[in-house]
Amino acid sequence: MMLLDEILSFNEKFVVDKKYEAYATDKFPNKRAVIFTCMDTRLVELLPKALNLKNGDVKMVKNAGAILDDPYDSTMKSILVAIHALQADEVFVIAHHGCGMTNFDSDAFLELTKDRGIEQSAIDQLKVDPNEWLVGFEDPAASVKKSVEIIENHPLLPEDVPVHGLVIDPATGKLDLVKKGY
Ligand SMILES: [Zn+2]
Repeated sequence: MMLLDEILSFNEKFVVDKKYEAYATDKFPNKRAVIFTCMDTRLVELLPKALNLKNGDVKMVKNAGAILDDPYDSTMKSILVAIHALQADEVFVIAHHGCGMTNFDSDAFLELTKDRGIEQSAIDQLKVDPNEWLVGFEDPAASVKKSVEIIENHPLLPEDVPVHGLVIDPATGKLDLVKKGY
């Protein structure tokens, strides 16, 4: 069975059996926090479990590497929406060890796009310099610090909102504190 069909078939039963009842909550985060972390598959269930987070507890924003390098990108917008419109009053930036964005090589990445049939002419059409855009980091803790600084210095961030920085182990769930926002 194709994945989409598998998902749709499971979903039909999930709804009929009212499995959703165990997850009933609303759009406001019970723990009044927003977490910005990496899209890594290992963190999908592990991170909430390791932080004791249930459905409804936090707003969760994700991207590759938990990298925030532009104060006007959609990540920062999401964090600000969580704070101003959805009652979050604390921010957690959580990168992780062994992240795919560690020492990310933009040239190697562009080669991968070519392997998937992307032409050089398409790469030339990009409105950004791919070597400036497709960047990772050397050290997750340093990357977290940088993201925390960008969030803290955002003109729309209220002064009383603490921004914490952490790095999580994707195998054990152990958190290392990089920066305490209080
Ligand atoms: Zn990652």
